[in-house]
Amino acid sequence: MTTATDTLAVDHLGNGWYVVDASGDPVTGRYSFRAEAEIRLDKIRRRAASKVRPCLSCGTRFASEGPHNRLCTPCRRADLSPWAP
Ligand SMILES: [Zn+2]
Repeated sequence: MTTATDTLAVDHLGNGWYVVDASGDPVTGRYSFRAEAEIRLDKIRRRAASKVRPCLSCGTRFASEGPHNRLCTPCRRADLSPWAP
């Protein structure tokens, strides 16, 4: 499956690093380091892949990052240990 984010890339343009589209135009602000632009690209791709799904624990609808992500943030953070205070 091809999505719009598959054509995005990280490139060095003049004074810094940018996430660029298929035609080479920047779609983000400037980053001093390549790693920063790569992290931004990763976030853009994850957001594009996300889908609103109900949490398996509490049923609240939240933006799931994919099949591995079925609990909302509060439920993921909750301490489910029987010894929790
Ligand atoms: Zn939940």
